[in-house]
Amino acid sequence: MPNFDAGLRPRSIGRTFIIAAFAMMLGYYLSSAGRGWFSGGPVVRDFETMNTYGRITLPEGSGVGIDPELAVAEAEAAVARVNTLMSPFGEASDVKRLNDSPAGVWVSVDPLTWRVVMESLRWHRLSGGAFDPTIGPVKRLFTFDGRETEAWPSDEALADARSRVGADKLRFEREGMRLSWAVDGMRLDLGAIAKGFAADLAMESLIRNGARHALVDIGGELRAIGGKPGDAGEPWRAGIRHPRDDDVIERFEMVDGAVATSGDYERFFLHNGVRYEHIIDPRTGMPLTEGPASVTVIHPSSCLASDALATTLCVLGERDGEAFIREQSLGLFSSGVRVIMLLAEEDGVRRVEMVVNAEGGVEVSSSMTDG
Ligand code: AMP
Ligand code: MG
Repeated sequence: MPNFDAGLRPRSIGRTFIIAAFAMMLGYYLSSAGRGWFSGGPVVRDFETMNTYGRITLPEGSGVGIDPELAVAEAEAAVARVNTLMSPFGEASDVKRLNDSPAGVWVSVDPLTWRVVMESLRWHRLSGGAFDPTIGPVKRLFTFDGRETEAWPSDEALADARSRVGADKLRFEREGMRLSWAVDGMRLDLGAIAKGFAADLAMESLIRNGARHALVDIGGELRAIGGKPGDAGEPWRAGIRHPRDDDVIERFEMVDGAVATSGDYERFFLHNGVRYEHIIDPRTGMPLTEGPASVTVIHPSSCLASDALATTLCVLGERDGEAFIREQSLGLFSSGVRVIMLLAEEDGVRRVEMVVNAEGGVEVSSSMTDG
């Protein structure tokens, strides 16, 4: 999982209302006068969300035109909103309402949910079905708790679950932003894309408030702008985790961009010595067993795209993944993308890097790591 070292410590948020209100008024006055008085900081906020951690960093001199604490609180609220709407649980969740609905019943969803569902369907189509936000019925037959287990679903249960998977059986109507299932017992699962979207949405909120330097990290899915402030133009730093231990296997730097990682080390179980990961291969209707140990995607601007592509490449693997990137290098990834795939092999971890260059060419290199 990439992890940014912002080089900053969380700052206390306790302060009196009067000081905050005065500071707000003064800030509005001065920023409206074009002075950006509130570009002070730094603020680092840690929170829990989407079944993982979140961290928003506004460095000193981020450029925000309001109290940085407020700007960060607004960005955190954007993440919370995505969680509320798209988590599988909770009465206010669009996903839960749709999953509780029998076939043929139309469910109106929030514009944010609509956006993420439409993106998911686009990735489903472009990836030839490798990305599928309806794998829920298969996924719920297994418990990905990192342990060895004897338990295994019956053939009937597996066949039944598979008959309830398929993004082509999710109906949608733009008018009223309505969704409905073609078959009973289907389940929408936005787990492969919602964290990236939440990071983008939080960053949009920060940018709206004037930020030119900021970092959002939602469980290792990152969105960065502007590097660290200052004349040196120092970039943000991130690391890729070794998929078989807690070490950082590789570090990289980024001024603007987005990063997401998917892998078999995050959530999995073992059965007869085989590792089954929480990503389902829609082509076999089974949890992946031989996917890359991890896939990190670095995209110039979209964390949603990084997130969706990382999951897609886990399913496609090295060969089909490379073919997919070549196929899309003048379309989907024409703005450039970099992929670092780590493959656990008998004699160690092999690293494959795929880079879409400015001409839409794809450069691929492969080497064994020291790890
Ligand atoms: P990520 O960690 O972004 O790779 O997302 C993995 C999560 O996405 C899983 O825990 C499932 O909830 C969901 N998922 C599993 N398989 C797929 C798939 N083939 N396409 C889309 N989402 C999936
Ligand atoms: Mg993903």
